[in-house]
Amino acid sequence: MREPLVILTKADLLVDDIRHASPSPVDVVTAAAPGVDVLVVSAFDGTGMDVLRALLAGTPPTAFPGTGPGPDPTAPRGRSAVLVGPSGVGKSTLAKALLGEKRLAVGPTRTSDGKGRHTTVRRELIVLPSGGVLIDTPGIRGVGVWDVDQGLDSAFADIAELAADCRFADCEHHTEPGCAVLAAVEDGSLPERRLASYRRLLRENAWLDSRRDARLAAEQRRRWKTIEIENRRRFAGRDRQGRNR
Ligand code: GDP
Ligand code: ZN
Repeated sequence: MREPLVILTKADLLVDDIRHASPSPVDVVTAAAPGVDVLVVSAFDGTGMDVLRALLAGTPPTAFPGTGPGPDPTAPRGRSAVLVGPSGVGKSTLAKALLGEKRLAVGPTRTSDGKGRHTTVRRELIVLPSGGVLIDTPGIRGVGVWDVDQGLDSAFADIAELAADCRFADCEHHTEPGCAVLAAVEDGSLPERRLASYRRLLRENAWLDSRRDARLAAEQRRRWKTIEIENRRRFAGRDRQGRNR
């Protein structure tokens, strides 16, 4: 079961004007993602961290300070959670804060070639002292891989459902005829800003994918270069041996 939770990070940076604005940041997010719980946290001053810990541990507090229906009291204890979001939003800091004193293993996975190459994408489970498990993705290490495709589908279940009725299976809901998503915006059943935030996430995801692809390509080039140099050295050695003979 996937349950999205929107976390607004860095609450300590909120100036009073914004904190008390109407609509509040939480209102704005709630409007864009109806039915999804929204939680405001700060890894720096601890705002909302108790609630987040409790949600992950599966021991929700009685009062949910965010909006939305809040946690399901019958939900199983100890959740597995994955933090998704663009680089810089505070995922690794949040993970470290959840871990308390224990350190998150930060840094690329090193291969046995001893050159510190980041060649594998590791996923590990981090058991939180407060209960629950964090799935450690490269994203929380600041590597920037944002594996969000599945998260997108569950956070935008309404759009995914509408998209099933689009005429074209690969409909991008822009100008295609017979687009059920555009039709829903047209008749008002799907808020336009909802489609806008879906598109924005898709774009960010594509951008992160392309960045990852560029990184992989660079890695590949470096590896070929090493092989090339190694080959040249071997050939040079053979030449010398030939001359010496
Ligand atoms: P990630 O790329 O999502 O893992 O983001 P990081 O955890 O690396 O954080 C990015 C930047 O935001 C760092 O400079 C952090 O120090 C800062 N940051 C993270 N959490 C907070 C917070 O709660 N409050 C403030 N003021 N800054 C934060
Ligand atoms: Zn469509």
